[in-house]
Amino acid sequence: SADPRAAGVRTTCGYCGVGCTLDLVVRDGRIAAALPARDGPVNRGHACAKGRFAHGFLTSPERLTRPLVRRDGRLEPADWDEALAAVADGLRRAVDAGGPDAVAAISSARATNEENYLLQKFMRTVIGTNNIDNCSRLCHAPSAAGLTASFGLPGGTDTLEGIEQADCLLVVGANPVEAHPVVGARLLQRALRGAGLVVADPRAVGLARHADVHLRPRPGTNVALFHGIAHVLLAEGMTDEEFLRERAAGLDELRETLAAYPPERAAALTGVPAPHITAAARLYGRAERPAVVYGLGVTEHLHGTDGVRTLANLAILRGAVGTGRGFGINPLRGQNNVQGASDMGALPETLPGYGKVTDPGARSRAEAVWGTPVPGRPGLRIPQMFAAARAGELRALWVVGEDVTATDPDAGRVARALETCPFTVCSELFLSGTARRADVVLPAASWPEKDGTFTNFDRRVQRVRPALAPPGGARTDFWIVHAVAAALGADLGCPTPAAALEECGRVTGLFAGITHARLDEEGAVPWPCPDPRRPGRARLYTRRFATPDGRAHLSAAPYLPPGEQADDDYPLIMVTGRRLDHYNSGSMTRRGGNLLLAPADLLDLHPDDAARHGLRDGQPVLVESRHGRARLTARISDDVSPGQVFCAFHFPGSGVNRLTSGHTDTATSCPEYKVTAVRVDAH
Ligand code: SF4
Repeated sequence: SADPRAAGVRTTCGYCGVGCTLDLVVRDGRIAAALPARDGPVNRGHACAKGRFAHGFLTSPERLTRPLVRRDGRLEPADWDEALAAVADGLRRAVDAGGPDAVAAISSARATNEENYLLQKFMRTVIGTNNIDNCSRLCHAPSAAGLTASFGLPGGTDTLEGIEQADCLLVVGANPVEAHPVVGARLLQRALRGAGLVVADPRAVGLARHADVHLRPRPGTNVALFHGIAHVLLAEGMTDEEFLRERAAGLDELRETLAAYPPERAAALTGVPAPHITAAARLYGRAERPAVVYGLGVTEHLHGTDGVRTLANLAILRGAVGTGRGFGINPLRGQNNVQGASDMGALPETLPGYGKVTDPGARSRAEAVWGTPVPGRPGLRIPQMFAAARAGELRALWVVGEDVTATDPDAGRVARALETCPFTVCSELFLSGTARRADVVLPAASWPEKDGTFTNFDRRVQRVRPALAPPGGARTDFWIVHAVAAALGADLGCPTPAAALEECGRVTGLFAGITHARLDEEGAVPWPCPDPRRPGRARLYTRRFATPDGRAHLSAAPYLPPGEQADDDYPLIMVTGRRLDHYNSGSMTRRGGNLLLAPADLLDLHPDDAARHGLRDGQPVLVESRHGRARLTARISDDVSPGQVFCAFHFPGSGVNRLTSGHTDTATSCPEYKVTAVRVDAH
């Protein structure tokens, strides 16, 4: 068709953070085709298998279509009135017993911006607490903290188009070929057309095969690696002196720190040969337009925020951010709306637009719009919520669209927290492990059934439009939050998603120029966009950075070891991540029915380690850590280094997150998923 909109309902893919535009063609109440839009601003006619084919879950007979309420210890079907009354009663009792801070909610980086906005508004204005967090706590919280400390705002500094003009790509701790396939293909294309490519990842990820230099640091040693590269940049004069003088801060302190990280010492700490560190530094340092792209291999560490900041150091040293001489530093977001959920204020320390809850000015701006006081004490982060529940201090928890028993670390303790908490509510598509433990389960809608917006990895706000009605009695989270507020006698205002985004624009200038009507006209608008008559800013910084002094701030944080080390009892280091065929806990992709799916979680094991432990390819293995055990199937592969193993967490039954530790990033409480000491035996 000449008009791509005529092909179906135009919307934004709800899987990863790339934000591909799809035209959903519906026949007989099912998605007959998901066509990648040729004029999609990010994907330009491309999409991966998940976006194109993984829709079977929508009509799965396992979808929740009625609320469930626990009676005499069993979850039983109920109508919405009964379920909402039970939720209101449970929340009221918790507040009566422990005050507003005895209630918490986990919002969702899978939900729309408008749903996140509404839930944080509900928690702050109806319950009266800042105990609201979202699952970006588990992935990119260190990006938000690190990028804000370095440059002033919690977003990537450039766009995909910019990255595609780079003449050197430094891709760190990411496997975009599998986890962000459309971006992975673009990066590969750029490298094949001549851009230098440095890949820093312990595994031989897809892009590494095409890299000029592949650095394979021991998990947990990123800061030492980045300092080693920075040392060479300084020692060999590959820095932008004018930029550092005029627009950066912290060079003297960094110089002092870097004196201790010549390539030979960085090599000893990371296991990466010194000549490789030097070669990577020269490739990045001599490029005219370098770009950094990174993923959760940088953030999900005990010192993840230091990792983000010391990686940002490289772009600052080169003057490759905010100058037009490079494309800065750009995080790849795992879930579709990681950026947006945080932008909308579903965080315990910040309001929509990142004003701090401790800042009276930021609070009064929100209060003027909401017409009610906003609490000034920062709320609990997700790991703190579970700890508070186990300690008997948290009396009600609402989990939206996340199976925390499968995806949060040290899952045994998470399950105990849910079982200890006197009242839990779960909004879900399926009866997940979290839903099975809830007192009330609310059947929720999925992304092809919703109206609203998502914000992708390069800060583009894009429309989400419903192609299908939710099945049976399932409802959107937007409807559910309104209904729970009404059951408590409150009116949240903003009756439609469009009205919610407009209201958010009155709370913060960051999105004030972005409305549904404008997005319907223009397709995508990046933030910051304070003015409806002007374009959003694709390149985040030009003349000034958004720090208080307008400068980019270098970090002199030293390398500190990860939370776990291998020893005689647990001789291997496990890294977790995603594989191409599935998505996170697999609740959608395992029910697709039309993908050639990997049927189980596999444990990648180096041939030397397999020989040492007498293990064969395809053999069932028992994996044990200091925290729990899991049963997996061995896959012998030299994609992993000796002494390391890798597995995904797509099958909750395998219990991979019972193995991961409770160690979290010292700045943001993001879990250290990337470093767990384990042992592996046949079983
Ligand atoms: Fe969806 Fe990401 Fe695949 Fe694009 S690359 S189709 S956004 S899962």
